[in-house]
Amino acid sequence: MEATHDVLVVGAGCAGMRAAIEAFDEGADVALLSKIHPVRSHSGAAEGGINAALGNASEDDPEKHAFDTVKGSDYLGDQDAIEVLCEEAPDDVYQLENWGAVFSRTDDGRIAQRPFGAAGEPRTAYAADITGHVLVHVLYEQVVKRDIRTYEEFFAWKLVIDDDRCQGVIAWDLLNGGLKTIGAKTVILCTGGAGRLYTGTTNAYACTGDAMSMALSVGVPLKDMEMMQFHPTTLAPTGILITEGCRGEGAYLLNSEGKRFLERYAPNAMELASRDVISRAEQTEIDEGRGIDGNVLLDLRHLGADKINERLHGTRELSLTYAAVDPIHEPIPVRPGAHYHMGGVDTDLDGLTSLTGLYAAGECACVSVHGANRLGGNALMETITFGKRAGRAAAEWALTHTTISVPPAVEADTERELKELLARSEGERPWAIRDELAITMHENFGVFRREEQMLEQGRIIEGLRERYKRVVVDDKGQIFNNDLTQAIELGFMLDLAQCMVVAGLARKESRGAHARPHDYPDRDDENFLKHTMTTFGPDGEVRLDWKPVTMTKWQPKERTY
Ligand SMILES: Cc1cc2nc3c(=O)[nH]c(=O)nc-3n(C[C@H](O)[C@H](O)[C@H](O)COP(=O)(O)OP(=O)(O)OC[C@H]3O[C@@H](n4cnc5c(N)ncnc54)[C@H](O)[C@@H]3O)c2cc1C
Repeated sequence: MEATHDVLVVGAGCAGMRAAIEAFDEGADVALLSKIHPVRSHSGAAEGGINAALGNASEDDPEKHAFDTVKGSDYLGDQDAIEVLCEEAPDDVYQLENWGAVFSRTDDGRIAQRPFGAAGEPRTAYAADITGHVLVHVLYEQVVKRDIRTYEEFFAWKLVIDDDRCQGVIAWDLLNGGLKTIGAKTVILCTGGAGRLYTGTTNAYACTGDAMSMALSVGVPLKDMEMMQFHPTTLAPTGILITEGCRGEGAYLLNSEGKRFLERYAPNAMELASRDVISRAEQTEIDEGRGIDGNVLLDLRHLGADKINERLHGTRELSLTYAAVDPIHEPIPVRPGAHYHMGGVDTDLDGLTSLTGLYAAGECACVSVHGANRLGGNALMETITFGKRAGRAAAEWALTHTTISVPPAVEADTERELKELLARSEGERPWAIRDELAITMHENFGVFRREEQMLEQGRIIEGLRERYKRVVVDDKGQIFNNDLTQAIELGFMLDLAQCMVVAGLARKESRGAHARPHDYPDRDDENFLKHTMTTFGPDGEVRLDWKPVTMTKWQPKERTY
């Protein structure tokens, strides 16, 4: 065994770093482990902001924040978790500010808050349009200040289970090569989302859902995996995100006729309706021939050069660099793209999974505050509030238990699997399988879902899994063997895709991101106001189960914007 710690946090984005800081402050010996440098984590790409009812721009309070979130979730969010998020958010944001987060300001010096989709009040605190960048740097400073051990460029592959509890992680050391076992009394999974399952996505190459699959492989259930959010404004053709902050500042969405088409779909909220509603509206416009080369247009021109340069500077730069469009003078071509996974590892309010010693937080977890549709600004807040809670709970458990055991057989099995993978010379390279997975997920499990397409996707994934058994890693070396880790990531993504399709087929209704306009166009609270739960059975097939939604104050109502 390489080393042991009280708490090992896998993943060093906002959730992982916030968890590690809290575990350290509780008195635990804590370490972070990440396949990339912490500040390069995908949290750094978050642009628009973070939601907390600070009440700086209007009369706001946690209860209003909670109601907007419940409604936004299409009533699939667990209301106890949503209440925790909204109650704790203001203090958690002030904590970030005290650590040095440079939020944009109101004229009288308070934290400024902008309107975001489906939020009844302007509630999104922001640092221009680089909020995530600011937060990862602030958190990393706190990690460095505490001298928290960071296993940087370590790729987590397997969870170590002994005595029915999680006791560490086996990782591939990217820099030096070789498998390394890090023992821990508790492990917190914070590996982020899985947008790379799709061709058109806002997510970075690292977003391959690793921990979700690692949890699945030790019998821990995944919740609501069918709920992949499509963001309405991704830049054509790259999929780079154009922040919702643009619409928060007043940008319009136009079709090929120059019309603000949301009049037809969300006449009250217009461009500030929720993401699922706008993505469906855009896709309908495109499908019915009122798009332009598969896009619609995001028009910022009326905001004027000063506002664009001051508040949406990054957006202008992205648009100029990647689409050769200057939003001061021309509208930006945008389309829906895979953005955020509401589903993930099922946890309680302290991040604990069904396995003793194993916790999860951030995008890889499903506590569930987003239900069937996440509101912009709530994901960063979730990483902070639930990262903190998981860090605290994992530290408390670790500090009251003493032993760590890693059975030699677990390490030996992983060594054998690695040797077999590297020894294989005949078969198929991973990239073709990966491309096919991403393209077909986009076609068959995208903004709109049809029964026959989902069935077809299930068959495609089965075929890809068969091909994956003969996958060949060309690079047999030890140093920075990305060929190896990409092959392992592909295996993770195939597991997740299968869960998504099984859950999607079972949910015979339309709710939030899961839209089935052709066969089940309506939400069906009588039969489907419940979470899907997927696990792998001993035969390697996905097992589906259901779990009730936790309701506290809000009964489901028709959702209009
Ligand atoms: C472009 C974009 C803009 C966004 N803007 C906003 C916004 O304005 N507001 C908002 O609320 N939300 C926003 N979101 C969503 C939000 O940013 C993310 O959900 C959130 O930051 C995820 O944080 P995380 O800590 O869970 O994961 P990440 O930040 O993705 O971190 C994952 C970590 O896990 C590590 N990791 C992964 N796999 C392994 C492995 N096998 N072994 C070791 N380490 C591993 C990575 O190295 C990384 O350190 C945005 C998302 C995108 C894609």
